[in-house]
Amino acid sequence: MRRGLAPIVGGVITAVQKPRCTAKPISIKPGWPQIRRKLVGTRVARIDRRGKRLIVVNDGELRLVIEPRMTGLVALAEVPSQEHLRLRLLVEGAKASQMLFWDRRGLGTVRLLTPDEFETQLGPEHLGPDALECSLTEFRKRLASSRRAVKVALLDQKAIAGIGNLYASEMLYLARIGPMLECRELETPDWRRLHAAMQKVLRTAILYEGSTLNDGTYRNTLNKAGEYQNHHRVYDRAGESCASCQNHRIVRIVQAQRSTFYCPGCQPC
Ligand SMILES: [Zn+2]
Repeated sequence: MRRGLAPIVGGVITAVQKPRCTAKPISIKPGWPQIRRKLVGTRVARIDRRGKRLIVVNDGELRLVIEPRMTGLVALAEVPSQEHLRLRLLVEGAKASQMLFWDRRGLGTVRLLTPDEFETQLGPEHLGPDALECSLTEFRKRLASSRRAVKVALLDQKAIAGIGNLYASEMLYLARIGPMLECRELETPDWRRLHAAMQKVLRTAILYEGSTLNDGTYRNTLNKAGEYQNHHRVYDRAGESCASCQNHRIVRIVQAQRSTFYCPGCQPC
């Protein structure tokens, strides 16, 4: 998503529009008038990301923070449907003329924050280091003493930011670690494999522009499906034979209300 928004960088924001949407409104703060007053006439300086949040930074260092959550996405032109369009940012003088935020379920949030507010609300007390920037030592330090199941701990954005549910299953499979094991049961070689698997899975998923599941919700900024779903080894493959051992079938369990997929042969618990 972050890379896909590069075409609006350098553009002057000419309007912040609230499209007509009859569905449950998304959470947006401060209100529309304040956001318009602070952004219109300023320039998009860069697009950042922290964990699962996208950040449009203007030339005054204000940060428009978009958290897409389950069904939100950003786009440059087309969106899957007009009825769930939530925000339109018009820009002039850049390669693209607008940025759209679309969210079917409306669980996403939009915040306009000053640098200080950003650090208070999304600083280290609230959001851990980004998974792709976290060293093995830091990764282990943040999780190793936890009594929680490792799959559940990986989703804790306060510990490590940026790991989504399906990616947690994929990285545990790649590292051959049982999802129900408590973090404190893992040993040094386990942490090393898990850290490497985290980097591998996230970088590959970014390369393939994410996963578009059967509901078809996720699209890239050009309204095209991602391709990482074609590379899932366990996620949404319950009952299928494990590609690695070919001796067990992939199992689905529920941990902390979220689906986990794993191979009982390759990932002993
Ligand atoms: Zn297996």
